[in-house]
Parts: sequence; structure tokens; C-alpha cells
Amino acid sequence: METKIGLEIHVELSTETKMFCPCKNEYGGEPNTRICPVCMGEPGILPSPNFEAVKKAVKVGIALNSKINRFSIFTRKNYFYPDLPKGYQITQYGTSIAEGGSVNIKSGSVYLERINIEEETAKSIYTENGEVLLDFNRCGIPLLEIVTLPCIKSPEEAVEFLKELRRIIRYLGVSECDMEKGMFRVDSNVSVSKEGRAELKNLNSLKAVYEGLLYEIKRQKEVIEKGEKIRRETRLWDEFKKETRVMRVKEEELDYRYFPEPDLPPLELSTELIEKIKKEIPELPYQKKQRFVKLYFLDEKDAEILVSEKELADYFEEILKFYKNPEDVSSWVITELLAYTEPENTRKLGLSASEIAQLVKSVNENKITRNIGKEILKRSISEKIPISELIKKEEKSIIKGDDIIESAVKEVIEENPDVVEKYIKGKKGVLGFLIGQTMKKLKGRADPKQVGKLILKKLEKNS
Ligand SMILES: [Zn+2]
Repeated sequence: METKIGLEIHVELSTETKMFCPCKNEYGGEPNTRICPVCMGEPGILPSPNFEAVKKAVKVGIALNSKINRFSIFTRKNYFYPDLPKGYQITQYGTSIAEGGSVNIKSGSVYLERINIEEETAKSIYTENGEVLLDFNRCGIPLLEIVTLPCIKSPEEAVEFLKELRRIIRYLGVSECDMEKGMFRVDSNVSVSKEGRAELKNLNSLKAVYEGLLYEIKRQKEVIEKGEKIRRETRLWDEFKKETRVMRVKEEELDYRYFPEPDLPPLELSTELIEKIKKEIPELPYQKKQRFVKLYFLDEKDAEILVSEKELADYFEEILKFYKNPEDVSSWVITELLAYTEPENTRKLGLSASEIAQLVKSVNENKITRNIGKEILKRSISEKIPISELIKKEEKSIIKGDDIIESAVKEVIEENPDVVEKYIKGKKGVLGFLIGQTMKKLKGRADPKQVGKLILKKLEKNS
């Protein structure tokens, strides 16, 4: 049995206005305040396409290696549903703004079938007492429909692909792709045999995608092992019960009576425009990762974390401008800074790149210990005191003279005769332990190199 998964992703584009009317495209706010006759489908309305959205769609197509169609048309998809006051959705059918394309993942490529431009429907809100409320602010927001071929072989691959796709779109700056806000939604097709397949809906997080697919594959395999057939159906993932259940059985394709949208001219793009948009494509995450590995000699794993969000990658490179030590800066950013926040929010910690650079540099030059450096970082974040100020204070309190350090060394040596014995017998590795113990006594307020030197001097005397 060969598992085949195809994904359909809906991405809300972040634009000034909606797809076919001048209403503002924003998230949240007072319901039903950003509406007009066009997005409410009143009789006699005339839509006009939003070229900002068209350009952003082209940008996504180019970044995903798709072929941009210079000529495509808008289509009416006719169906009745309360969240769609017009009784039809404007989408693309037959011709798409972009065709083909691929996204590279570790095990190969995920191939795309097409990218369509369409419009959002209203948001349905289900209340506790069983009512359904509608917020039409969302109705008409520009939407991209990205459809893959059924070439994904496992839930792991699906999640990896979605992460990379999301990353690319976020890098392009055309959508926030916030899944919790419904800006990046995933539906799926799953089959384990040629006989039948199921559509899977309500995958609202990457975790839901993974668990939903895993469950559905197992379910289909069990059905086949029992000698039964997989029905063509749409199933919903229930995040709480951790199971999929039937939403509707598809006897045949729903007939949407597609026809070309009579109120909109065909979408024609000039070669110049496509070329211009091509030049606006920024360095994409996988390209940035390669550059980080090559230019800064970072290992793949670290580079992967640093490019996970453009904001983090930019921040990292800005710190390097003040202190060109990629290995240590990357280590501080990954292990220390990311302990306090998510990659996309690093700047919200309020720490300037130059201050982080100074911190890493001070630790490297042994002006302060790494532990004190960590303390400084913690205090700077929680008490909003500039790092430079805290470093100055710490530097002042660092023990410079040999006397105090020597007396601490003496104590440590007296307290650990067995360790000293080992050292004398040739186990030089225990030196680190003795340095650590001395630093502890000095509460970290000494230069470990100086401490090491003094321990060696003392041990030589002893032996
Ligand atoms: Zn409107």
C-alpha cells in the first residue's frame, strides 16, 4: 500500500484592501464594519481587481518556481452558503495565475499543480447556544489557493513541506501566515490504494495536520485489511477526540457550474511586470541557509534555526556587524536569546544588536564569565537595563588582584586532596574541575584563565 498525500493550502494575502472592493483588509476588529455593496453581493455591483494582490500572487509563484501565466481569467464558482452573500465565489478555474512549481524538502521535492487567486468567505462564529454568527469583514479578502500534486508520502513530509512553504511566503512579506488567525489553512487528500481516497478538513495547526494524516492513513489501511472499500468522502479531524469522522460522502463531483466571471476582464500580465517582480524577490530561506553555512562556517542545524524566521536571520547578521564572530554569536542567539522568545519575536525583547555584540565580546575576552553574561542578559530583559550598563558594573566588581584568587585556590586544593592526587598522577583533565570550584567560591567574579594559571602555579609547588 502506497500512501499518497496531496495538500491544498489557502493563504490570506496581506494587502491594503480586499480583492475586488476598496474595503480595508485587516484582521479582527468590530464585526461587519469593513463591508460594502461589492463584498456584500448587492445587486448591480461591479468588482474591480486589486493589483497589489495580483502582484503578490505572482511573487509567490516565482518564489515557488511556478510558471506564471501571462493570461488567466476569473471564474464564478456557484454555490449557496451563508458565508457567501453573492451566492458564488470569484476564483480561477481552468486557467490559473501560476502553474507547476516545487518546494524542496530533505527527502526530495514536493510538486505543485497550480496557484489560484480567489476571494475569502465570511467568518462563521459558532456560539455556545448553537447559533452561528457571521462576520463579513473577512469576506472578499484576497486568497491564494496553492494545490500540490499527490506526491507527499508521509505526514512528516507534509509537515516539513508546509513549514518550508510558510517560511518562503513569510520571507516574501506577502502574508503573515498566522495559522491561529486562519491566514494559512490546510486541507488534504489522502489515499493508501488506487481504489479510493478521502478528503481531510479542519487541519488548523501543523500538529493537527500531522495527527490527522497519521490517523487517516491508519484508518484506511485497516478498512482495506478488512476487505472493505474506501469510500470517497470528506472527513473532519476532531482535535479533541483525535479521530476523523465523515462530514459528507461524495458520490460524484459537486457541480459548481463554473463560468467565466462576466464582470471582470481577463488578467493579463506584461513580461516587463513579471521581470520587475522577479527582481523584488528577496533571498529565500534555503538560499540564506546555504550562504550562512558557506560564509560563516555554521553547521547546518544552527543555520536552519537562524533562518527559520527572516527577522531572526537579519538580527543575527546585524549583531555580526558589531562583532564578527559568527560561531559565538550564533551560539548565544540560539541557546540564550531563544530561551526567552520565539524566533519571530527576537526584536521584541528590546535588545539592540550592538549590545548583544558587546555581551558576547566581553565574555570571549574574559572580561566577564559566561554565567555572568547570562545573568546580565536575564536582568536586561526583565528589568529593561541596558546590557552595556550591566557589563560596566560587572567589570568593576571583577577580582583583578591575585591575593583573593590565590586564597580561594588554596581552599579548593585543601578541600580536594583526591583530585589533586589525580592531577599529580597525570590526569590533567581534572584541572577544569578545580577551576570550576574556584570560580564558584569567587561567585564567578574572576577571569577563569587567571584562575587556571594560579592553580597550575600552586600545583607545581605541591608536586
Ligand atoms: Zn467591500
